[in-house]
Amino acid sequence: MIPDVESNRSEFCSAIESDYDVAVIGGGPAGATVGALLAEQGHRVVILERSLFPRFHVGESLIPETYWPLKRLGLLDRLRETAFPKKFSVQFVAENGQESAPFYFDEHNSHESSQTWQVWRADFDRMLIDNAVEKGAVVRTDAQVLDVLFSEETAVGLRVRLDSDSGKQDTEIRSKVVIDATGQSAFLANRLGLKQPDSRLKKGTVWGYFQGALRDPGKDEGATIILQTEGKKSWFWYIPLPEDVVSVGCTGSMPYMFDGVCKSPESIFQRELDRCPAMQRRLENATRVGSYYTTKDFSYRASQAAGDGWVLIGDAFGFIDPVYSSGVFLALKSGELAADAVHAALEKNDLTAEALGSWQKDYVHGLEMFRKLVYAFYTPGFSFGTFLRDYPQFRDHLVAILIGDVFRPEVGEMFDKMGEVLPPPDVPAESVS
Ligand SMILES: Cc1cc2nc3c(=O)[nH]c(=O)nc-3n(C[C@H](O)[C@H](O)[C@H](O)COP(=O)(O)OP(=O)(O)OC[C@H]3O[C@@H](n4cnc5c(N)ncnc54)[C@H](O)[C@@H]3O)c2cc1C
Repeated sequence: MIPDVESNRSEFCSAIESDYDVAVIGGGPAGATVGALLAEQGHRVVILERSLFPRFHVGESLIPETYWPLKRLGLLDRLRETAFPKKFSVQFVAENGQESAPFYFDEHNSHESSQTWQVWRADFDRMLIDNAVEKGAVVRTDAQVLDVLFSEETAVGLRVRLDSDSGKQDTEIRSKVVIDATGQSAFLANRLGLKQPDSRLKKGTVWGYFQGALRDPGKDEGATIILQTEGKKSWFWYIPLPEDVVSVGCTGSMPYMFDGVCKSPESIFQRELDRCPAMQRRLENATRVGSYYTTKDFSYRASQAAGDGWVLIGDAFGFIDPVYSSGVFLALKSGELAADAVHAALEKNDLTAEALGSWQKDYVHGLEMFRKLVYAFYTPGFSFGTFLRDYPQFRDHLVAILIGDVFRPEVGEMFDKMGEVLPPPDVPAESVS
């Protein structure tokens, strides 16, 4: 069932000192990863999170390459013990209802990393933050970061509002490095005016949870299914979760989704469901559990991932449309890359933008692979089926991106052939390299 986040919540209420090597804002997947890996290296780390944990969060579908950061964090055995459904593939359903063959990840790579999971984020994120505590990070929830403190151009600490039994209390923390992992709040990127929205990907989403939906049998039972609606104006995700629950969400352009005619999230969801017989079939005997939720999921990226004394990771650096379920992987991966850069920078006592952001160029290359594939998905008239019929040699490249294997240069070769149909990105890659 949807975790009862209210009744199960517990507080991390460690006493806070006034001085750390690293202060991390936000305890989601990115913040918990960077915090755990730096604490493991012996650095004094504090993670400040404004919510009580576990907290509800959208984004339940992992992609296979998440395996590697999870392995490094030492969490694979814990995941294997959970009831999270195993995910072996992703499948696409076209607007006319035609189903693609599932893209089985193990056909690309037979390693066990080709199997991943569909997770309740409340439980998954709790697992990550517990791990950061076990590795030595100080975690404090109900800690709202109000400001990043600068000495001239260099970040030197934080101003934080702590909520405790004795009331709210503002305090200052000094740190050699400040890491912003605030998710879509993108705290520092907004403060510094670094956020570059992608005007082509201004989307909105309505989603809910259903019990008793139709599930495919066998290996396909845990698959993510992406279904286009008639006219390709929106698409649904279908993500199987534990206890026969399925997460079902619908994404389309903001003006289309929230056109003012259908006002409630339920009526918007129903309008789109009426345009998607393949999803109707799956939900025919299902009962909704909990409310409908809405969010704006505009894509953006900051123009730089680091400055003197500060670093941006996860969604706080950039967010890409959720169609390929890349967000948690990118949060973990950027947390891992940033941890290595920050560790090296602390060892050398070189806390400049260059040292702290040495991972940015490779990371942005990977990010761009997802973004180009998102553009292709939304390009009218473009069909992956037709593309792969014309260029079958690129099937492996496509699956590589779907699993998150995006950091090899050759993976991008497919886009040279797609070039004619894909518009150039809003944010030129060179502006952030
Ligand atoms: C509609 C939708 C569907 C998605 N589906 C998927 C999916 O299927 N698979 C997938 O991998 N990804 C998905 N994502 C993306 C995924 O949810 C995110 O990419 C992921 O959560 C990013 O992790 P993060 O740690 O960067 O940020 P978050 O998980 O958002 O964590 C940020 C944390 O920072 C805290 N915080 C913010 N501001 C402050 C402050 N001032 N002080 C203290 N704490 C603060 C917040 O409380 C939060 O806990 C989806 C996103 C959307 C919008």
